[in-house]
Amino acid sequence: MGISAKWDTLIVGVGASGLQCGVRLAEAGQKVLILEARNRAGGRIHTFTDKQTGYNLEAGAEFIHGRLPHTFRWVEKLHLSVSAVTGKTIRLLPDASSPSPSREAAWKKFHEILAGLRHDTTLHAFLNTYFPGESYADFRQELLRFAMGYDAADPERVSMLALRDEWEQEEGPNYRIGRAPHLQASGYGAMIYGMVAQFQQAGGKLLYAHPVRQVSLSSPAFVQVKAHFRQKILTYMADRVVITLPPGTFQKYGHKGISIEPGEDRIIQVMQQLGYGTATKIITLWKHPWWASRFAPDMGFLISQAPVPTWWTAYPNDWPVLTGWKGGPLPSGNTWPVIQKDAVIQSLVQISGLPAKILQKELLKYFIFDWYLDPFACGSYSYPVPGHQTLIKQLQAFFPHRLYFAGEAYYAHPPWGTVESALASGNEIATSILKT
Ligand SMILES: Cc1cc2nc3c(=O)[nH]c(=O)nc-3n(C[C@H](O)[C@H](O)[C@H](O)COP(=O)(O)OP(=O)(O)OC[C@H]3O[C@@H](n4cnc5c(N)ncnc54)[C@H](O)[C@@H]3O)c2cc1C
Repeated sequence: MGISAKWDTLIVGVGASGLQCGVRLAEAGQKVLILEARNRAGGRIHTFTDKQTGYNLEAGAEFIHGRLPHTFRWVEKLHLSVSAVTGKTIRLLPDASSPSPSREAAWKKFHEILAGLRHDTTLHAFLNTYFPGESYADFRQELLRFAMGYDAADPERVSMLALRDEWEQEEGPNYRIGRAPHLQASGYGAMIYGMVAQFQQAGGKLLYAHPVRQVSLSSPAFVQVKAHFRQKILTYMADRVVITLPPGTFQKYGHKGISIEPGEDRIIQVMQQLGYGTATKIITLWKHPWWASRFAPDMGFLISQAPVPTWWTAYPNDWPVLTGWKGGPLPSGNTWPVIQKDAVIQSLVQISGLPAKILQKELLKYFIFDWYLDPFACGSYSYPVPGHQTLIKQLQAFFPHRLYFAGEAYYAHPPWGTVESALASGNEIATSILKT
């Protein structure tokens, strides 16, 4: 099919959600075009190979948080291998070595109140209501740290009922995607590579380096999409369009980003109300795994109060790789504290007790991925706010059957902010398109 013809469905973005949606539609016989701004697939999944060591490293998503159905369907379909994430968690936090009775009592009270919670509220309001005062200060800090670090959430906005769904879930192991015998890459990249191949085999067309700038729904007969390519503006037409841009791009750029007309103001307004956080991931490669003798040979995660607070090893893999993580809400002003090498070393000095000189000597190389600065992500992943489901319904209702939003942020169920929710959302949108 010629590029200038009219497509059944045009998808903007080739992340997990766009691919899942595209594969389903193309396999059902639709003519599908995906336009992607970057020159690679995967979006917030970005596996890359360190040329010196040959390690496949994850700049974005890394873990599968349990036996999640959509993700495991692809794992099985593509014959990928997974390995359970095991290893000891080291906590360098006040109270961690000798759990105090007051902390245990606070946790017990927390679970009881949470189980009976009927009306949604934010984490901040919840803590102020049920855990006020000095005696709960450490407990409040512990919860705030977790919500900001793990969920990249703003405590003043994140939904307590949604956190309950996530926090009260039975904990199973996490997994990583391992080597894939018939595919080029391993890690999550192998899944993306396999999905792209599947999409193209089903007749789908994918164009890289085509940032979409305008989606026009003014004509009732078709949707018109304008994209940039090598200084040119190209126009495409389709019966419907599926937008998979993260809400952070709308929040950061407002009217200067992708323009959707008519009704752009209302769409931006809804996007601004969605919860979306950010994270910086720091991947460090070492001559020796110094943490094995310092903490434990089977160390998995390490949680601390250092400027870069959370770290994990590649365990059970024996690569001398230590990954750092700092998550949190998006900045409210224009200043954004970019993490640089100094803060990385300072954090590791604080954590390990080793002199900076020794760490500098042991460090082979490092990579810093600040996802807030990524122009096509503008953050890491979403978190639900009270009223999240209503906001998503509003988005899908602006132009029924012609404009859809797919992506982790537009899915109304847990697990929030994950590859699984991106896949589930892509699948849900494909189902509703195929019903029309
Ligand atoms: C650092 C980090 C760590 C994470 N860790 C995990 C984890 O361990 N486990 C987990 O399950 N999830 C994790 N996530 C979340 C997970 O990566 C995302 O939820 C998921 O990949 C989102 O997929 P998506 O399709 O919704 O969006 P995206 O992957 O963002 O896809 C959207 C696509 O749209 C493209 N695009 C943007 N603007 C335009 C435009 N104007 N024109 C054309 N294309 C455009 C983007 O380039 C992108 O390819 C992590 C995310 C980050 C950032």
